Amino acid sequence: MIAAGIKDSREEALTYLQSLSHDLIRPELAESFVDHGPEMVSWLEENTSVKFQLVADFPDYHPEHPGGKPTGGRSLECPLISFNDLGDNKDRVTVGYNYGTAPITMEESHLGSAVPIEVSATEHARRAENDERGCGQALIGHLYRACLEAEIEITTSARAVELITENGRVTGVVIKKGQKDLVVHARGGVILGTGGFEWNRELVRDFLRGPMTSPVSVPTNEGDGLVMCMRIGAALGNMREAWWMPAVEAPGDRGDGLNPTYLFAAERARPRSIMINKKGQRFTNEAANYNAFGAAFHEQDVARFEYSNLPCWYIFDQEHLDLYGTIETAPGNPAPNWITKAQSLEELADKIGADSQGLRQTVSRWNTCVSHYRDEDFHRGESAHDTWWGDPAVKGTPQATLGPIEKGPFYAIEVKSGALGTKGGPKTDNNGAVLNIDGGVIQGLYAAGNVMASPMGMTYGGAGGTLAPGMVFGFLAGRDAAGNC
Ligand SMILES: Cc1cc2nc3c(=O)[nH]c(=O)nc-3n(C[C@H](O)[C@H](O)[C@H](O)COP(=O)(O)OP(=O)(O)OC[C@H]3O[C@@H](n4cnc5c(N)ncnc54)[C@H](O)[C@@H]3O)c2cc1C
Repeated sequence: MIAAGIKDSREEALTYLQSLSHDLIRPELAESFVDHGPEMVSWLEENTSVKFQLVADFPDYHPEHPGGKPTGGRSLECPLISFNDLGDNKDRVTVGYNYGTAPITMEESHLGSAVPIEVSATEHARRAENDERGCGQALIGHLYRACLEAEIEITTSARAVELITENGRVTGVVIKKGQKDLVVHARGGVILGTGGFEWNRELVRDFLRGPMTSPVSVPTNEGDGLVMCMRIGAALGNMREAWWMPAVEAPGDRGDGLNPTYLFAAERARPRSIMINKKGQRFTNEAANYNAFGAAFHEQDVARFEYSNLPCWYIFDQEHLDLYGTIETAPGNPAPNWITKAQSLEELADKIGADSQGLRQTVSRWNTCVSHYRDEDFHRGESAHDTWWGDPAVKGTPQATLGPIEKGPFYAIEVKSGALGTKGGPKTDNNGAVLNIDGGVIQGLYAAGNVMASPMGMTYGGAGGTLAPGMVFGFLAGRDAAGNC
């Protein structure tokens, strides 16, 4: 930020997090995160080949909150990296289902730039030929290459199953690799980075604050780190929270026995679309931050004793489809058969089981509101966040997210309550050292990333808001553990 001439300060960053805390962020962890974030970035750049660059202008997710940045400046990414640099190791990197190995940076995507940067077909092909990858793959590629350069041995396809303790100190971990149980001894400490428990239905049911049926992370995140910590008496925190994400499940098999499940982020913000519940009514600002949106799925109708906004559908018209495409559909293409289609709104409501009169009235009201570009009901389009995530061609204006639903046929897709990952787990001190149930440190044990009780509480502050705390506490834990050697 300093290099780019963007003004920010410790106080502003902490004020921002505090304004989003709702008493769930522990101030000492927020301070540790803010104080050591720049240090982590500098350390990596100075001591390894990892490089970062600014994703310019990307607004914070709640930019109008105190300390928020409507014009961005707090989000970083790694430049493109050729996975050929990893040699034979490149096939050991998991490729996520949603974004794959796209050879573009965040800044070049429709999300990461005020005006999307066009990558020519020739340049795209050159990058693909060279296996250059951007976004999350770039981050992991840079980190992996740095590990290889430092001759750090990495074991994959191995599952940690048990922590080894001696006199109350964690001294190693048992891993299962194939049929074998192997013991790995740790001189400095064991740092857990096993992700959340979003794929463990029992833990999800036991701990999360509301329904979460559609995780979008790797299915190997089953809460192993959490369970290992519970076994040795760790204190737990933030257990009810996840990085919530509306999700769409399409039929079919994506190759691993699971059906394709898509993040439903930018689509919600685009014009000529709304989201409704079974009454056929809108229930919130559809363009709001995806993590905050989770709360809309957890809202209950007290009298009827049911979730008010589940099931939920995303409703759009033909022009929306033609202009923006949708899940599994490029702009201008017909929607796949699994997407519900009808010639009238009433027919559409009947097909999905929503109230048809309610939907007709809702769309009529929506069209009136957007005719003067003002969502009087839920204030969609009033935040810099909403207009950033909408139509990239008119980013920053109300038109980026507000537009009428008028041209049939009309379409509906069910939207589920999903998550990028859970964010509850063992509590830690400011260095990521795991605490026991009485508040003392469990010597030799650390946690970073989604396995730990997140320093962010229920908050997702901005782009990179999950990866940054994971990296900062991983950095601090590594340094602290190295001090034990
Ligand atoms: C499509 C998508 C887009 C995202 N975009 C962003 C973004 O733009 N910015 C952002 O900040 N965040 C983003 N996120 C969220 C972010 O990726 C996660 O929050 C982050 O990766 C969590 O890091 P982690 O290391 O804690 O866990 P993970 O990255 O989930 O990794 C945990 C790993 O531990 C492994 N594991 C589990 N159990 C064991 C065990 N017993 N032994 C050994 N290994 C085990 C798992 O297989 C997995 O590989 C996105 C997530 C998704 C799915």
